[in-house]
Amino acid sequence: MSKIVVKFGGTSVANTERISNAARLIKEKISKGHQVAVVVSAMAGVTNDLVKKSKEIDEKFDLQEYDALLASGEQATSALFSGALKKLGIKSRSWQAWQIPIVTEGFHSNSRIVSIETERLNKYMNEGEVPVIPGFQGITSEMRLSTLGRGGSDASAVALAKCLGADYCEIYTDVDGVYTTNPAINPKAKKIEKISYEEMLEMASLGAKVMQSYSVQNAMMNNVDIYVRSTFTNNEGTKITSDQKISYENVVSGVAYSKDDAKITLEGVDDRPGVAANIFEPLYKNNINVDMIVQNISLDQKKTDVTFTIKREDLKKSIELLNKQPNLKFEKISFDEKVAKVSIIGAGMITHPGVAFRMFKSLSENNINIMIISTSEIKISVLINEDNTQKAVVALHSEFKLD
Ligand code: ASP
Ligand code: MG
Repeated sequence: MSKIVVKFGGTSVANTERISNAARLIKEKISKGHQVAVVVSAMAGVTNDLVKKSKEIDEKFDLQEYDALLASGEQATSALFSGALKKLGIKSRSWQAWQIPIVTEGFHSNSRIVSIETERLNKYMNEGEVPVIPGFQGITSEMRLSTLGRGGSDASAVALAKCLGADYCEIYTDVDGVYTTNPAINPKAKKIEKISYEEMLEMASLGAKVMQSYSVQNAMMNNVDIYVRSTFTNNEGTKITSDQKISYENVVSGVAYSKDDAKITLEGVDDRPGVAANIFEPLYKNNINVDMIVQNISLDQKKTDVTFTIKREDLKKSIELLNKQPNLKFEKISFDEKVAKVSIIGAGMITHPGVAFRMFKSLSENNINIMIISTSEIKISVLINEDNTQKAVVALHSEFKLD
């Protein structure tokens, strides 16, 4: 018998028929003798709709009321789900965040869970009943409703799994796991059986969105094993776990890409201390995230070029900020919006030399020019022309034997 936290995403509970199907899935687990706590998202589209309504009232809608409003989506699902379980003869009730309580701190609309009172929940589960808990919501120390940021029901599920001492956490969604790359651009993509938290975080930050990154981080810190599965198939899914539990046959576990980057180059900036800080200060102050950065070696010790990437949506603002930054002199500013970042990720590369060489050779054989390279311990990223994204992904996928 295991103790499991099972979370259903919005598409898995999108209508009452799907809620009933999901409830049947829980019944199967109960009949196998498992103890289960259910965490639910709002029904697909509901949260977006509520956000839209709040904006119709006021573009800058009061954040405390925003949380009270958005929390209603998950509250509705939790009641429907619990009702569906009862219909199947399973003892169940919904537990709203304030009834548990799940206490949060931080900004409204973007709070973090700090504690979950589990004594009553545990007692309830030990009596064989199934609590259905709305994800995404909590309560502040001032007894106001709070929410955890978009996609935050993952965070609720992971935190509950940790606090209840669950054996693992299952995330039911509309894809049947994490893939070696996006199957939509490479049909040879394969489902990954096991992936480490670190790799999953890299994949997520590079565009493979299966789970909220913050929740993966939290799972890593607390060593909570996660299974990502689809409600629509019986397939095995992907296990996200500590790398100690994984033996790496492949050096590279996945190829990820993002197509929403832009590149800015400042030519002829002074080569002296303080210049780089001067470039990035206004970007940081305006919450613009800089990703890859390259500074060329200056040939005359006087002038150099600096190139970096940002999100495409921040391009216009970044250029404006750089143009009016005091004491920042450059000869020319140029940009390229048609760029994509393609990355190979794999914990196996720590112990295998030659990975970078294979990556660059494979790209050159496909006539793909590299603009910028950046690396971390378990990842190598290159910036290329956006038109070459698919070609690069397919080539690297095959080079690293992921096909
Ligand atoms: N319903 C919330 C959202 O759509 C939370 C979640 O689904 O995880 O962002
Ligand atoms: Mg969701």
